[in-house]
Amino acid sequence: MRLRTKILLSYLAVAIISLVVIFASTSFVAPRNFAHRMEMMMMRESETEHGQGQGRGMMGGENGGSNAPTDEEINQRFRDALNESLLWASAAAITASLLISGFVTWRITRPIKAMVAASQRIADGHYTERLPKHAHDEIGDLIHSFNQMAESLQQTESMRQQLIADVTHELKTPLTTIMGMMEGLEDGVMAANPATYHLVHQEADRLRRLVQDLQELSRIEGGQIALNIHSHAPTELVKFATDRLTPQFADKNIALHVNLPAALPCVRADLERTGQVLINLLGNALQYTPAEGRVEVSAQPVDHQVRFAIKDSGVGLTEADLTTIFQRFYRVDKSRSRASGGSGIGLTIARHLIESQGGSIWAESAGPNLGSTFYFTLPTV
Ligand code: ADP
Repeated sequence: MRLRTKILLSYLAVAIISLVVIFASTSFVAPRNFAHRMEMMMMRESETEHGQGQGRGMMGGENGGSNAPTDEEINQRFRDALNESLLWASAAAITASLLISGFVTWRITRPIKAMVAASQRIADGHYTERLPKHAHDEIGDLIHSFNQMAESLQQTESMRQQLIADVTHELKTPLTTIMGMMEGLEDGVMAANPATYHLVHQEADRLRRLVQDLQELSRIEGGQIALNIHSHAPTELVKFATDRLTPQFADKNIALHVNLPAALPCVRADLERTGQVLINLLGNALQYTPAEGRVEVSAQPVDHQVRFAIKDSGVGLTEADLTTIFQRFYRVDKSRSRASGGSGIGLTIARHLIESQGGSIWAESAGPNLGSTFYFTLPTV
């Protein structure tokens, strides 16, 4: 039952109880009260008459007339009886109203007080705080939303803690390597030659890329990038990426095929940001495909969208990896990915960029060593 109905019913209950009490008192209590008062009056009258009769007998006087109550006296008794009963009835009605409204107020304010206390505890950092379920009324809805809010705050907090732990870990690894090499150089254990300096430089470069990726991710997640959305032909977007990566594919001896139908509709996209996503996906395909492999970029129209696909014949992904690779810092083979400079942030950035352009991104794979295909969609003009 909704709160509005409950409050309405409680008012109705108070009104009905008051009416019943007043009706009962005027119907049953007032007549008895009146009869009792009349009886008392008659008794007093007869006592008076008796006393007067005796007095007159002693004095030998004649018997006086009847002392029957006058209309005025009867009216007075009736008013007194009615007033007294109404007074009791009012007291009973007020008590009933106080009890009912007190109960209703308690039922309403109790969860609100609990909510105030819980929000204070959440503000103090106790994110596990939840309120017990309540009836299906407006307060129940409020408690449900409150618990949902607490849940998402808890998730955000644990993501923040996880992010700090991940970033710390990612920064620690190259820093420890650099420190180790510098100590080796100081102690003369490592030779001060170009090869050593190159190793130090490589680690420093990894740190630079990590910081750059993190900066980019925080700007994207904070909604701080302005997209330059225009109409673009899918060929233009694909060319943006393939032009930049063709030499690397040739170096690793991996065949790069572009397979785009002639009559593809134009898409609404930011050329550079979509190009960045394609470069990331093609770069991953290049990295996770052994030499002599094959990578194909294709696209096709699907329901007011164009679906792009980057298919490789590389190391493939397991079912579990497919759902987690878009999370930040997730890498299937941590040591191999880190050795090649991967931070596990590229796909997270790609997901944000595609979603902010109104598309979606996902991966499919038949399993380890069976290659993988990365798909993303963009809305057509
Ligand atoms: P990274 O910079 O480590 O490559 P990404 O976010 O781009 O980070 O990718 C996350 C992880 O997803 C990679 O570490 C890799 O394990 C996996 N991955 C990405 N692309 C592919 C691919 N084409 N084939 C197999 N695994 C891939």
